[in-house]
Amino acid sequence: MNATSTPSGNQAGTLSANPSGGRPYLAIPGPSVIPDPVLQAMHRPSPNIYAGELLSLTDSLIPDLKALAGTQHFVAIYISNGHGAWEAALMNTLQPGDKVLVPASGRFAIGWAEMANALGIETEILDFGTAAAWDLDKVATRLAADPSHEIKAVLGVHVDTSSSIRNDVAALRAVMDTAQHPALLMTDCIASLGCDRFEMDAWGVDVMVSACQKGLMTPAGVSFVFFNDKAAAARAKLPRVSRYWDWTPRATPQEFYQYFGGTAPTHHLYGLRAALDLIHREGVEAVWARHARLAAAVWAACEAWGNIADPAQGLRLNVSDPSLRSHAVTALHLPAPRASDLRHWLEQNLGLTLGIGLGLAPSDSPAWHGHFRLGHMGHVNGHMIMGLLGGINAGLLALDIPHGAGALTAAASVLAKPD
Ligand SMILES: *Cc1c(COP(=O)(O)O)cnc(C)c1O
Repeated sequence: MNATSTPSGNQAGTLSANPSGGRPYLAIPGPSVIPDPVLQAMHRPSPNIYAGELLSLTDSLIPDLKALAGTQHFVAIYISNGHGAWEAALMNTLQPGDKVLVPASGRFAIGWAEMANALGIETEILDFGTAAAWDLDKVATRLAADPSHEIKAVLGVHVDTSSSIRNDVAALRAVMDTAQHPALLMTDCIASLGCDRFEMDAWGVDVMVSACQKGLMTPAGVSFVFFNDKAAAARAKLPRVSRYWDWTPRATPQEFYQYFGGTAPTHHLYGLRAALDLIHREGVEAVWARHARLAAAVWAACEAWGNIADPAQGLRLNVSDPSLRSHAVTALHLPAPRASDLRHWLEQNLGLTLGIGLGLAPSDSPAWHGHFRLGHMGHVNGHMIMGLLGGINAGLLALDIPHGAGALTAAASVLAKPD
């Protein structure tokens, strides 16, 4: 540090007594914070993949994954990220020329549709923009206009991590039932599983895809496709399914290697076991309630910060209706380029990393620097969220970004409120 830098900072905006050491905090919407018990469970030599502990450990994951998803039916595990699970779900249910309907509330729904399209599946997107939930009247109208049932599946993203919209999956099912439409209901719960309430069987979901690096708190690399008997019947009718993506041997293995179509993702399985134990110990209802409470604290702070004379100059939640907001991720606007400035300042000065904006503006446009996201999924608690919010408050002050007062008190009040 040279002698001319002031105590409050230098030209790059970096504090001279820089408090960014200590444990870093990655507050992006996936991968999420990995709990110490998960890290410790993975820190071991390679186990035998032909006999012994790994085999029984893997068997033990299946009922726990199904319980978390709220299904009594099947789960197939893949060594892939969420994109692999997207592809697996499509490969096992549809063939080129089939048609799917995709109600979209953000970039991830569009991404799943693009993947279907690349597989030769005809995709029809009902695009509701980046700040609105599914318009189910429009979905109903579209299904009613399909008397010959050309639409074979409806693909819906439960929580779209780009917009932080949380869609009503049970209501989508009700619309499909009212239309007496036989299409499969397939949902992406990659961001929501283990964060936002989800009940696969009770909500009438036929196929659900998820991955391990968000609510399941495990390093990226393992994904899941849950499916019921109706989806299994669709699979049985296909003339062929790629051997690797075929979910049948994975969900009903006769031999251990069939779980994974080859070598097991050994260390991920240990990590996942530890993560599921954490969820089980807390109780899934309590996990959902914790996410709801922490999300409400985040929103309270953001609303207070945004409460200024000219709201266009300040912070704004992407989703205005709280009932449509995810409990796992929050997308925010701040006039460009201040969102990027804030992210950079927090990383350089406080050891705190926020998520980039996704899908709310083209990534090569100046407007892209007007969005960011907070991940509050998985292994997070009240003191971490207060640290996250306190850090942002420091950044708003340091960068002279206009903001309303009382944000941290508003968040603390949410955490202090009796049930
Ligand atoms: C993270 C995410 C994905 C993509 O998962 P990858 O593991 O990055 O392939 C898809 N959909 C949603 C809703 C997500 O949050």
